[in-house]
Amino acid sequence: MAKKQFKAESKKLLDLMINSIYTHKEIFLRELISNASDALDKLYYQSLQSGDTGIKRSDFHIRIDVDKEARTLLISDNGIGMTREELEANLGTIAKSGSMAFKEEHAGEAAEKGKKGVDIIGQFGVGFYSAFMVADEVTVTSRAYGTEEAHVWNSRGADGYTVSPAEKAGTGTEILLHIKADAEDENYSRFLEEYTIRNLIRKYSDYIRYPIQMMVEKHRPEEGAQTEEGKAPEMESYMELETLNTMEPIWKRQKSKVKPEDYNEYYKSKFGDYQDPVRVIRTSVEGVSSYTALLFIPGHVPYDYYTKDYEKGLQLYSSGVMIMDKCKELLPDYFNFVKGLVDSQDLSLNISRETLQHDRQLRNIARNLEKKIKKELADFLKNDRAGYEAFFRNFGRQLKYGLYDDFGMHKDVLADLVLFYSSMEKKMITLDEYIAKMGEEQKFIYYAAGESVEKIDMLPQTEFIKDKGYEILYLTDEIDEFVLQMIRDYKEKEFKSVSAEDISSEESADMQTKIRQAEEENKELLDFIRNTLGDRVTDVKLSPRLKDSAVCLTTKGGISLEMEKVLNAMPQDQHIRAERILELNPDHPVMETLRSAFSAGEEKKDMVKTYADLLYNQALLISGLTVEDPATFAKEICSLIAAQNDK
Ligand code: ADP
Repeated sequence: MAKKQFKAESKKLLDLMINSIYTHKEIFLRELISNASDALDKLYYQSLQSGDTGIKRSDFHIRIDVDKEARTLLISDNGIGMTREELEANLGTIAKSGSMAFKEEHAGEAAEKGKKGVDIIGQFGVGFYSAFMVADEVTVTSRAYGTEEAHVWNSRGADGYTVSPAEKAGTGTEILLHIKADAEDENYSRFLEEYTIRNLIRKYSDYIRYPIQMMVEKHRPEEGAQTEEGKAPEMESYMELETLNTMEPIWKRQKSKVKPEDYNEYYKSKFGDYQDPVRVIRTSVEGVSSYTALLFIPGHVPYDYYTKDYEKGLQLYSSGVMIMDKCKELLPDYFNFVKGLVDSQDLSLNISRETLQHDRQLRNIARNLEKKIKKELADFLKNDRAGYEAFFRNFGRQLKYGLYDDFGMHKDVLADLVLFYSSMEKKMITLDEYIAKMGEEQKFIYYAAGESVEKIDMLPQTEFIKDKGYEILYLTDEIDEFVLQMIRDYKEKEFKSVSAEDISSEESADMQTKIRQAEEENKELLDFIRNTLGDRVTDVKLSPRLKDSAVCLTTKGGISLEMEKVLNAMPQDQHIRAERILELNPDHPVMETLRSAFSAGEEKKDMVKTYADLLYNQALLISGLTVEDPATFAKEICSLIAAQNDK
């Protein structure tokens, strides 16, 4: 039979994975057992759905069989099994669509941190393929629930796999690993030792809810053997099926008996992560609906997090039995990164059929959990700033989406959890920290939006605010400005863009009078520039806010230049345009040149037009926009340079 190739990207990843992860070969067992446990959960869930009473949870088990001679380790379960198509789809592709994008995205991140990109592969490595770290051949025989035929999948690693029909007595999956020969730097034979297997199960899989069984050798006094005084009795050995895990769910164990590492291990084995969670929340409530919840905040962004494939939700257990894998109702969208489970004896098993009645219960639980998560994050922020900032880099954008959603309705929950870069502190700060520094006279919370902190810092619009000794929040995330506009204010302090046209109201009455006078004096010149620029600008004004720069662009109304950029980058052809105002610095030498050219009579008017054009384009560039007509712009600069010859 023809050998099938792994999908191109899988092959590369598989190679990388097998050759990159040297330190934790032993996790393969945890991964295969977790998969088996999932398969049992799925079967149970499906039997509930279809009302199949022939399926009994008490029969569920995972078995491990070792054959030292043949150097094989067999891990079998009587779970849901896989059809031929599922074998191909699940084991023939390491990560489905988007995996390359994910890899690239994270390769960049890793490079930034000066690390190798290998870490990332761990995300794939923790699955089924980790078997290839210890095995040179893997054979999977599986029969799907509700089908008669079985299939066998076989692979020796990166060069491909085969799938063919097979015989198998019951439903479920058997994974046969042919363990690699010992190498100089690695003793693979230890994975065939009862002692190693016992320890690995204790370490990684103790709370798997189904018995993990293995035939082990036991000893007893030989039957009928007479024990002579002072002599040990003759012993005979026999084999017995022993359950190696304690099975008690970790969230049902006494809190004081569970160590942080136990939660971390549980999280990693059940939620397919290779990194410890950054926070663990365990909470129990007694009352109308009693429940226990065990929640985790991951230490990194799941690879599919920002794709449509990502599904939020918590596992839902009824008295220790999983009845739903991803219960969406339990988490608000803005906390969709939280993983974990809720166990409640008050929910009946057929939850999916009695949604109405349970909706209320679930909503109740969800409300309480939201409060818990909020409290945990606030506590995280207060007590571990560096940790929180890392968390915020990972999931902060989700919190900000939450602030924006539903017309800012979740402001009370989220506003004190978000961070923005501060012009003064040169680091991320909270809105509370901003407000704490505001003096009596400062009316607004100022912000400036742009592509990067460096670029924002150079905006001429920021000069005036900085001069007054006010702090500015630098917004670099596309969504930021939309968020602040949506929530409008924080603790009664309004947000205000440094590029807002009406910011001049912050200036002293003296300054305002001075500007008005100057505008009066230069009225004709300003009108002329306004006419020259036509509908490219809404207005041309003299600016009270500029210090060193000659010009800047500000905007009027709800749409800023940054928002214009974001909106126009969206797939719909929107042609959104911010209302631009060109502001000129009345004290800049450029003003003098404009004035004298303008008063020199008709023949110099073209010159003023060119100047106006150049200044407008310059203002665009400073704001991070592009020049509308680069060819003319270039020509105008050249003619200015050439004009030097005439002098
Ligand atoms: P993950 O478990 O993270 O989804 P894996 O690479 O470990 O990724 O497994 C890929 C898929 O193969 C699983 O999602 C599951 O659908 C299927 N699978 C693996 N092991 C089993 C098993 N023992 N029984 C049924 N399906 C399995």
